[in-house]
Amino acid sequence: MRTPLIAGNFKMFKTAAETTAYVVELRGLLADARGVDVLIAPPFTSLAAAAAAASGSAIGVGAQNIHWEREGAFTGEVSAGMVREAGARFVIVGHSERRTLFGETNATVNKKMNAVVAAGMTPIVCIGETLEQRDRNETLAVLDRQIKEGLDGATGEQLAAMVLAYEPVWAIGTGRNATPAQAGEAHFHIRQRLKQWFGLDSAGRCRILYGGSVKPDNIARLIAQPDVDGALVGGASLDPKSFLAIVKGAAI
Ligand code: PEP
Repeated sequence: MRTPLIAGNFKMFKTAAETTAYVVELRGLLADARGVDVLIAPPFTSLAAAAAAASGSAIGVGAQNIHWEREGAFTGEVSAGMVREAGARFVIVGHSERRTLFGETNATVNKKMNAVVAAGMTPIVCIGETLEQRDRNETLAVLDRQIKEGLDGATGEQLAAMVLAYEPVWAIGTGRNATPAQAGEAHFHIRQRLKQWFGLDSAGRCRILYGGSVKPDNIARLIAQPDVDGALVGGASLDPKSFLAIVKGAAI
């Protein structure tokens, strides 16, 4: 069975000192939490602090992005090897804010996914439709393209170890989350495609998170959907108590 995973995306919030204080508090709060995997993805500058504070606990640490090259003349960029050395074991790839604000495409998502896997970390590959695409009834076709192009070349074994995050763009940071039925339908479709393209066994092992205004009061209904294996949480992950409430809500 797939263990639920709750991942906190801090976005551009929390300094290294604030991240340390957060992890210290979260460690204490999570002491009796069982049956759920937990990770946080702070900004690059807080990765080492997060890893040090989380050392010896079950809290995983992830980066929010990487460049796909190992090194080079890419001012302002950070490689997979660099975030791994700083303590990351997961990397969020293709978050909709990166697609919308920083021009990421399925092709760059694919390169990043490969770089993360090559560096021995777990990619959390984000997919999801915009409101216009949903209104035009293109949701499932958009997801198909994002999966096909973003995961192109991945083996079944790699897919099995990966995490996907279905994040409808219209639900991110808006307070407007998908209904459990909408999330369930998208997740079911994604799982079917993964079965078709990567095989039953690998598709059955890959975790698919839901993301988009997940809060303590809606996590239980979302995770009750058969193909929802956890959540990628933005705003509500910034406070350890609300993040803990989401973790507990996922432990069904
Ligand atoms: C996210 O950043 O991936 C996200 C889902 O944000 P929020 O929970 O704030 O909608």
